Amino acid sequence: MVADAPGSAFPHRHLLAIEGLHPPALLAVLDLADTYVEQNRDADKKRALLRGRTLMNLFFEASTRTRTSFELAGKRLGADVINMAVSTSSVAKGETLIDTAMTLNAMQVDVLVIRHAESGAVKLIADKVNCAVINAGDGTHEHPTQALLDALTIRRRTGRISGLRVANCGDIAHSRVARSNIHLLNALGARVRVVAPRTLLPAAIERLGCEAFDDMRAGIEGCDIVMMLRLQTERMHGALVPSIREFFRFFGLDYAKLAAARAEAIIMHPGPMNRGVEIDSEVADDIHRSVIREQVEMGVAVRMACLDLLTRNLLANARPS
Ligand code: ASP
Repeated sequence: MVADAPGSAFPHRHLLAIEGLHPPALLAVLDLADTYVEQNRDADKKRALLRGRTLMNLFFEASTRTRTSFELAGKRLGADVINMAVSTSSVAKGETLIDTAMTLNAMQVDVLVIRHAESGAVKLIADKVNCAVINAGDGTHEHPTQALLDALTIRRRTGRISGLRVANCGDIAHSRVARSNIHLLNALGARVRVVAPRTLLPAAIERLGCEAFDDMRAGIEGCDIVMMLRLQTERMHGALVPSIREFFRFFGLDYAKLAAARAEAIIMHPGPMNRGVEIDSEVADDIHRSVIREQVEMGVAVRMACLDLLTRNLLANARPS
């Protein structure tokens, strides 16, 4: 097994979670991503940095933004990118997760980007392979590149993260995005809140370093950032909200509730959005307040930065010691 890469700006072999990453490593990703934002706005977006490298996307769960932005990120850095269609692969024939990963590893893939419905499944694979592994979302655990792109969006909009009041609102119980964001925003000095009906607020969530609210207006009062989250119905066992209509009435972000936040507060959402469920359509499309499209743009840049940093570590590990 190849070790982490001490001395590098991002001294880790894999990106599996935000929890445990220190501010210098987080800032190294954000600072590098800033340069990729500019490159992506040029007519010539392509570089040869990862020429000869192979990136494989292995998504066991549905995805639009994350999978395509990893594909674009890899291609813009010159890597060969393969998207494995899990439903038509041998996974459908009953091959185990580890066997699938070991098969791909034997093909000398450099970076595996994995999304899986089970929390911990991506780490299980990372422990077995030689390549770098990026967690593109594992169950309700973490979605590290989403938190990094959210932080980049916030930092570019407001100029800072430290001291900001950030409310994560909606289905906190099942959201890997909320978990990664709580860790990252805390590490960079923000004051984090979570807002949800009691049925969607995990017990002892405050231990992660946030304040919990079960009232939307109180939860977003005075906040600089309001992050909305989708109801993760695919992870719910039984009805945890009385009805969609009721949920929207009490927890959906509309202008009336938004009035409790700071006048210049920005609105975020990782997507996919369910309009009229967790967010009102007009609020989502408000060009002055909503930065949802910017988040998508930042996603490509952040993923380029992650690929860049992790493959530098592969090179460092390839050198004889
Ligand atoms: N796209 C995000 C995720 O995969 C958020 C969501 O699905 O609601 O976790």
